[in-house]
Amino acid sequence: MDAQRTLRRQVSCVGIGLHSGNKVNLTLRPAPADFGVRFRRTDLGDHDVPATVHHLAGIQLATGLSRNDVSVETVEHLLAALVSTGIDNVLIELNSPEVPIMDGSAAPFIYLIHEAGVKRLTTPRKYLKIVRPIAMSRGDKRIALYPSDHFKVTYSISYDHPLLRHQSRTLRITEESFVEDIAPARTFTFLKDVEMLRQNGLALGGSLENAIVLGETGVLNNALRFEDEFVRHKILDAVGDLALVGYPVIGHLVAHRAGHALHTEFAAKILEETHAWRLVEAPFEPLVPIGAIPVKGVAPARLAN
Ligand SMILES: [Zn+2]
Repeated sequence: MDAQRTLRRQVSCVGIGLHSGNKVNLTLRPAPADFGVRFRRTDLGDHDVPATVHHLAGIQLATGLSRNDVSVETVEHLLAALVSTGIDNVLIELNSPEVPIMDGSAAPFIYLIHEAGVKRLTTPRKYLKIVRPIAMSRGDKRIALYPSDHFKVTYSISYDHPLLRHQSRTLRITEESFVEDIAPARTFTFLKDVEMLRQNGLALGGSLENAIVLGETGVLNNALRFEDEFVRHKILDAVGDLALVGYPVIGHLVAHRAGHALHTEFAAKILEETHAWRLVEAPFEPLVPIGAIPVKGVAPARLAN
């Protein structure tokens, strides 16, 4: 049986919120079968916000959720790490509205999950298997899901910038490929946009420690982790946003120039198009054992500060 999973024990870290610049405590706690992934603001009592499209809040530069006036922001990198490591059930506690940005990638969250260890539960996991295409577009931004035996993502981006014209990548997403090829890819921004964000009170916690910054003539950070780190990060974002359907997806996601707004609008559309998918159990070979894959691009010391 392909059973649901949770964490073996609770695990915590401290980081800063990208937009507020405030220090944030994050704790991941084990949860029972069919609990799902839920956020809890410990500064606001015990109201949970389930990580599903039903609780989507306004999308600006990152993906936010809210329920009963309790909101959490910048959830997508953590959700991508959880869904890719097969963690179906977890309570995520935060003492602030933002999930900490860490190094701008999902690698620190993979490290935390590996630290906690994984526990198999006795209830089967359900997957959302695509049986008919679903597509959506907004101007030149496009996103679609097609039937496939595996979860695959094809992503392409195009920018009017001398260092980032066009990048495209297709990857079958497994725990192994996510940990090695996607999780370490950092978020990116353009120097010309940073000043505008700051004037609007956003990105106050942003720095070269947690984002790739593209200037007119080069990358301000010393080095990229991958030559095509940008498109890999877009795959990371899409995996995290798609997790809001509430089940791991089996299908081929194809996106061009999309972003959080389109990813999440599409995730909501998937649930509405009930003729295009069905829920199945154990569709393919078991995932690679947790902890067997070394994490690139993350120094454990970063988690301690
Ligand atoms: Zn991102």
